[in-house]
Amino acid sequence: MTETKKKSRTKDAKARAAATETDAPGGAGEGAHEFRAETARLLHLLIHSVYSEREVFLRELISNSADACDKLRYEALAAPQLTAGDNTFRINVVVDAGGGTLSVEDNGIGMDREELIANLGTIARSGTRAFLDRLASSGEGSSLIGQFGVGFYAAFMVAREVEVISRRAGDAKAWRWHSTAGDGFTVGEAEQATAPARGTVVRLHLNEDGKEFLEPARIERIVRTYSGHVPVPVAIIEVKDGARGEPRAIGDASAIWRQPRSDVNEEAYQEFYGHVGGQFDQPALTIHYRAEGRHEYAVLLFVPSMPPFDLFDPERHARLRLYVRRVFITDQADLLPGYLRFMRGVVDSEDMPLNISREMLQNNPLVAQIRKAVTNRVLSELKKFSQKDADAYRAFWDGFGAVLKEGLYEDMERRDDLYALARFATTSAPEGGRSLADYVAAMKENQTAIYYLTGDDAARLAASPQLEGFRARGLEVLLLSDPIDSFWTAAALGFDGKPFRSVAQGSADLDAIPLAGDAGGETPAPPGEVAILIAIVKKALGEAVSDVVASQRLTASACCLVAPAGGPDRRLEKLLARRGGGQAGAMGLSAPVLEINPGHPLVAVLAAKAEGGAGAEKLSDAAWLLFDLARIAEGEGPQDAAAFCKRMSDIMTSALGGAAA
Ligand code: ADP
Repeated sequence: MTETKKKSRTKDAKARAAATETDAPGGAGEGAHEFRAETARLLHLLIHSVYSEREVFLRELISNSADACDKLRYEALAAPQLTAGDNTFRINVVVDAGGGTLSVEDNGIGMDREELIANLGTIARSGTRAFLDRLASSGEGSSLIGQFGVGFYAAFMVAREVEVISRRAGDAKAWRWHSTAGDGFTVGEAEQATAPARGTVVRLHLNEDGKEFLEPARIERIVRTYSGHVPVPVAIIEVKDGARGEPRAIGDASAIWRQPRSDVNEEAYQEFYGHVGGQFDQPALTIHYRAEGRHEYAVLLFVPSMPPFDLFDPERHARLRLYVRRVFITDQADLLPGYLRFMRGVVDSEDMPLNISREMLQNNPLVAQIRKAVTNRVLSELKKFSQKDADAYRAFWDGFGAVLKEGLYEDMERRDDLYALARFATTSAPEGGRSLADYVAAMKENQTAIYYLTGDDAARLAASPQLEGFRARGLEVLLLSDPIDSFWTAAALGFDGKPFRSVAQGSADLDAIPLAGDAGGETPAPPGEVAILIAIVKKALGEAVSDVVASQRLTASACCLVAPAGGPDRRLEKLLARRGGGQAGAMGLSAPVLEINPGHPLVAVLAAKAEGGAGAEKLSDAAWLLFDLARIAEGEGPQDAAAFCKRMSDIMTSALGGAAA
């Protein structure tokens, strides 16, 4: 093996830490290996699962084989000798009832010893890891196995023993991986006679429950259901009395994305989505078209109905598969922006050179043009979807809205298109589903801005004191509880000519809008009457606040905190401090403005005491309690828990007629 080749091979495995090895590296004997801890966990789960649709193991193995053929087809572009003598790719499913085995064979890229160890000892998919974490925390059980492909390891649901015999294309040696799950696995050199000339045989020694998969008709049905449209021909071979029968073709191996829409039925789409998406829910939306004109390419995309587990993976890659004239090139071309990373599917270009290297794709103008056009198309299809079936669209938005909203922040060019897609919970529609157009249509006379409030928890947001004055005036407020909301609102210029305004920032400026009916509660006291109290509170709180003011936005609560005008949103600041860890945390948050409600009886009685000459000393505890109450209303703890407890118990004691401690 040349050095460069070796490098590119190990690169694939680089991301996964190698499995623990107990033999000397490079040793030719049967090296014993342990599974990495998370793999062992997954295997344990699969073996003990009561998941009834165990047949999904077969689609996983066939999918892997199809990918292996795709990979070799690509490598052979630069190194045609790799497929010399056999350039027809195929997958055979071999049923040997007598021997109690079921095998999936392919003449794809194959794996060498290193790759067998790296690929079949660890878990590659970030989604699978996230899936395991979720299982551990919620115990949702095995129903998820079928929806989120767990890959190769699914074989252990039906097999007590799994053998993988593989020869990497171009290599002289073949290798045998073997495992009974419980005790890790071994890897050693395979006997030449049993090894494929190229590619991989995955042989399952079926367990008692797995015996049902020795029925050829059953296997045929399963392959048709899940793998009838993988782009490599699949055949069944029956072994009778030790002799292999003739291959019987199943599936058409057609590239369904290249067929006209009218020729493809829903089942075929569904099945292909399973293969290409690695997920097995129903697609919520299928987008299939052929772009013609300056550039020609076929597009077949799916919106999943269930968010994949790696949706919030920090890498944010959109893993569409790029083909050039049916040859798979890469799933790393970023054919869609990060905020559409939940899309699954294929783009197949007629115009790109076949020998394009993956590196060259990075700055390729054709890729950029396809990305632009496909992104626009996806957004317009989503818009149609929203107009056609509001309920289904709502479900889509609930699953993926938080991701799409990233686009509001990073894709200025398409911000209006994304605004049209966005749905919100608001004070008028706490259950969600409100569009900005709905909001604008319901704006009150003299209302000039689109009001919003951000926070961590949708339910708590709806109960925020900051909303009171807006509610009293019948003003609708968007309730934004996704972390990304703090970012896009900070950068948003406005929708339909109306600026976005936080109800928790700056002064409320609600004078121009009358209170609705008698919803308003008390009329605010004239500022003069609270001026002395304000001065005292401000002095008592010192640097904890940047100002203390009489509130326009409160009607029922005594106090609340808002961000100073012009500064960052309080929640954005908190998010940044959390993310930035030490440094940003050490910088501290900017001090909020404490608003007090002159119409509230507590504030009124404090104001009267202040007027009557009760000085800063007497009112200092009350000032701190007001401040802490406002913090608690935001879901935070008091500034100083011990001091809060003492003040609280002192006040209760004296209110109940006891003597101060
Ligand atoms: P995934 O397919 O999502 O990567 P799997 O656990 O199914 O996860 O497979 C792990 C890796 O093992 C694959 O990424 C691939 O590199 C390798 N692999 C599995 N089956 C085959 C095969 N038939 N031929 C070549 N490589 C394979």
